[in-house]
Amino acid sequence: MDHVTLSVIVPCYNEERGIHELHYRVTRVCQAHIGDSYELLLINDGSRDTTWQLMKEIAGLDHHVVAINLSRNFGHQLALSAGLQLCRGELIFMLDADLQDPPELLPDMVARLNEGFDVVYGQRIKREGETLFKKASAFAFYRLLNKLVDIDIPPDTGDFRLINRRVVDILNKMPEHYRFIRGMVSWIGLRQTAFPYERAARFAGESKYPIRKMLRFSMDAITSFSVRPLRLASYIGILFGVCAFFLLLYIIINYFLGYSVKGWTSLVVLILFLGGIQLIVAGVMGEYLGRLYIEAKGRPMFVIQEIISNSTSQS
Ligand code: UDP
Ligand code: MG
Repeated sequence: MDHVTLSVIVPCYNEERGIHELHYRVTRVCQAHIGDSYELLLINDGSRDTTWQLMKEIAGLDHHVVAINLSRNFGHQLALSAGLQLCRGELIFMLDADLQDPPELLPDMVARLNEGFDVVYGQRIKREGETLFKKASAFAFYRLLNKLVDIDIPPDTGDFRLINRRVVDILNKMPEHYRFIRGMVSWIGLRQTAFPYERAARFAGESKYPIRKMLRFSMDAITSFSVRPLRLASYIGILFGVCAFFLLLYIIINYFLGYSVKGWTSLVVLILFLGGIQLIVAGVMGEYLGRLYIEAKGRPMFVIQEIISNSTSQS
């Protein structure tokens, strides 16, 4: 496998409206700053529109483009992982297809990396065109995540980043299915630095992360990097033990003061409350157990249906 200087990796899911613009802008910046030794990996993550047809066309016309078709929709993180496994670059630039993260920042990020870093990650200082809810939930999520996990995952970062071959090789050796790539990169450590930038609005199309997917993604992130939620049961148990002790004191004092114990309302409330907590704790355990089950099966992360690159195509 011969190497190239730079691989640009772009997972695409229903991105037919933006893919030509993406190709144009990536090509322009790569030609100007890298020269000829680069590749653009477009990964089609089971799109339902014409994304794959367009990708094939682009790959047929431009020998820098490698079009990879996954056999179905595997999700953003796995599509990205497919690209990471297939890329040949010494430097790897991860990008979203919607051009929210400007490819034009590449030269500045390469300069930063050359100062002696292994990872230059984009950190959003501003987000255009995203709903208040999305911004607020992202803000809360990154802060909660940092409270729960033991490694430092920098807030307000996405997968928009430039990494070197050393980091990619380590990432590719990490076998987990539930992949939270920005966290995995943080876990690796080495020399990492932030690159502040302003996140643009989507060029075309809609966000592929509705609330449901965002929640699942957050669960993946937390369960991949922390077992703290599992300890929830013990903490709550201790808390209730202490409460029960004081309640007992209260009842004994009341008894000697001659007050009778009133009604059953408090009892019912307590039962419901404790029942609720038990269910939550069981649910948390289930989340981990389910993931353990999936990982234990050891299936491949994704299935590649077809790779198209210039005139050579493989199935
Ligand atoms: N994406 C993907 N598979 C999916 C969902 C999304 O490959 O199942 C791609 C999508 O095409 C885009 C990137 O992942 O290039 C980020 O998705 P999106 O822009 O919808 O996320 P947001 O920026 O809204 O968080
Ligand atoms: Mg986006």
